This record gives sequence, structure tokens and C-alpha cells, in this order.
Amino acid sequence: DAGETKMMIEAHALLKKFYHHLLVNTKEGQEAFDYLQTRGWTREMIDQFEIGYAPDSRDFAVKLLLGRGFSPSLMEKAGLIIRKENGDYVDRFRHRIMFPIHNHHGDAVGFSGRLLGEGQPKYLNSPETPIFHKGSILYNFHQARLHIRKHQEAVLLEGFADVISAVQAGVAHSVATMGTALTEEHARILRRNVDTVIICYDGDASGIEATFRAAKLLADAGCHVKVATIPDGLDPDEYIKKYGAARFQRDIIDASSSLMTFKMMYFRRGKNLQNENDKIRYIEEVLREISKLPNPIEWDYYLRQLAEEFSLSLSALQEQLNRYKGTVK
Ligand code: ATP
Ligand code: MN
Ligand code: MN
Ligand code: MN
Repeated sequence: DAGETKMMIEAHALLKKFYHHLLVNTKEGQEAFDYLQTRGWTREMIDQFEIGYAPDSRDFAVKLLLGRGFSPSLMEKAGLIIRKENGDYVDRFRHRIMFPIHNHHGDAVGFSGRLLGEGQPKYLNSPETPIFHKGSILYNFHQARLHIRKHQEAVLLEGFADVISAVQAGVAHSVATMGTALTEEHARILRRNVDTVIICYDGDASGIEATFRAAKLLADAGCHVKVATIPDGLDPDEYIKKYGAARFQRDIIDASSSLMTFKMMYFRRGKNLQNENDKIRYIEEVLREISKLPNPIEWDYYLRQLAEEFSLSLSALQEQLNRYKGTVK
């Protein structure tokens, strides 16, 4: 109910403030602060994203929240503390870098906690709660919204670290899903705010697979999709660290391609287009994709491109395309 929602949001606001204080002002938070420095994030970003540190204590949050009069069962429901079998309450997040996650009003409604180094699980998220629904929250959406409107475009990334580095690099209209796949709800939220979404997932195999899935959802929601691909299996954060902000903007974001061009690059991988069989397979794969496009102007555009590249007659391609159109919806 409304009273409980309000209390859960107040608890997140309080805890977020304390975690941030521990990180930036105390000796306890020094190791975490040092870790963030090794990642190259400025103090300005640490403040803007209200990053914090959950101390290595079993009951820091328990004491803080209960001491302020919040009920333990409600705080458990909010995902901030855990009730053990023996009835004791303990903190969910311990010795982790804390990223508060805000809803579109800008209220913190969950956290993701990252280990200071390597290990598993790397990120620990708040569970689903009455105020935190991973399927409908985009990280940084509340801060990016105005920039998204201004640029008439949103940049969709995979992780928190990618968003923070992209924003630090000047790409303020960046958002990410919460460690889960993009949902129809995410796509609808983006579509309500913008026409064009640039997908800029990690350059590894799973990022590329996820790009296909996200592109389909976004296109089905009516978004115009572009794809920015990161080379060498890097993720956006690693790319920015390695090559700097200007190259990220120019060679990745500004150089993003149409979805079809991305698919064509994907189908080319591992093929030798001088080889007859590979070439035919490639042309068929591209034709199949073209047949799924809703727009005749696009069919025409890509058919001509194919015809030209492989010195084929447009009419042969058109005939094959018509066959595919009969078989796929
Ligand atoms: P970092 O740069 O801090 O190592 P990352 O964003 O590159 O993190 P990835 O492995 O690429 O991490 O994962 C992308 C996103 O998936 C993360 O930002 C996080 O939201 C989510 N994620 C990754 N690992 C886990 C995990 N073990 N549990 C929950 N979520 C996870
Ligand atoms: Mn990844
Ligand atoms: Mn990554
Ligand atoms: Mn990363």
C-alpha cells in the first residue's frame, strides 16, 4: 500500500546517503574509493551517480534502519535486509560498491552491489519488491531522460559501468537494463520518449546475441534501431578506458549503423565471400532479413546494394525475395 511504498523509498534514500558517505568520507570506504579510481571514474561521477560502499558488516543496514524506526519485516520486503532461519536480521549487501537504482521519478528503489575485485556473483541486485521491478527499470533513465529528448535518441548499454563511463565521456543519453534482458516494457518506455535507440552492447559473443534480441523487441515496439559495435570483444567501458571519450563518440556512437548493416556484418563473419558456397549462403541470409522489413523502400534499397555488390540481376533477387515473403511474416 501507499504507506509501505513511501517507507521503503525513504529507507532507500537513507541507506543510499549513508553508503555514499562511507565511500567518500571514511577510512572504511577507502579501499572501495581506490577501486573506483582504478576504474577511472571521477569524483563528479561518483557523486552524480551517488555511488556508495556497503561496509563489511553483518548488520550495518539493520542497525541503521531499525534505529530509525523502520520495521524489520518491511525492510526485508524492500530487499535491504534478510531474515535468517533463527530469526536474526542481517544485511543483504556487504563489502560491495553500491549503485543505487532509481525509478523514473528519481527515487532510489533498489541497489546493485559490485565486488571490489573479481569473484562471484560480481553484481548482487536487490530482489523484485513492491517498488523494484527489473523488467521496467532502466538504469540512469531519470537523469538521461532530458538528454534523450534533446538528442532525439537513446543509447542502450549492457551494464552500470558502461553507463557511468559513457556519461563521463559526454554521452549523457545513456541507459542500461538491470542485468536482465531487455523486456517489452523497457522497449515501450523507450518508445514513449524517443524514436531512435542505439544499441551499444558488449562486443563479446553474448553481447552480439543480445543485440539481435533487443533489436527485435525495440523494432516491434516501433523504435528505429541503430547498432554501435565495439571492436575486439571489449565493452563500452573498456573501450572508453582504452581509446578515450572522443573516439567513443566519433568511432562508436556517431558511427553506429542501421540494423540491416549490422546484420550484414554479422552474416559475413566466418565466411569467405570469394567462396561460391559462402557467397550464396550469405546472399540468402541477407535476403531473408530483407524480406522481414516492413518497408518497400528499404527492400529496394538493400536489394540494389546486394545486386551491385555481387553483380546480380535485381529481378532475380526480387523473385527470391518474394518467395521468402510468402514464408515469413
Ligand atoms: P564490470 O565492468 O563492472 O566488470 P560489466 O557491466 O562489464 O561489469 P558484464 O559481465 O558485462 O559486467 O555484465 C553486464 C551486466 O550484467 C552488469 O552490469 C550487471 O548488470 C549484470 N551482471 C553481470 N554479472 C552479474 C551477476 N553475477 N549477477 C547479476 N547481474 C550481473
Ligand atoms: Mn557482457
Ligand atoms: Mn561488460
Ligand atoms: Mn565492464
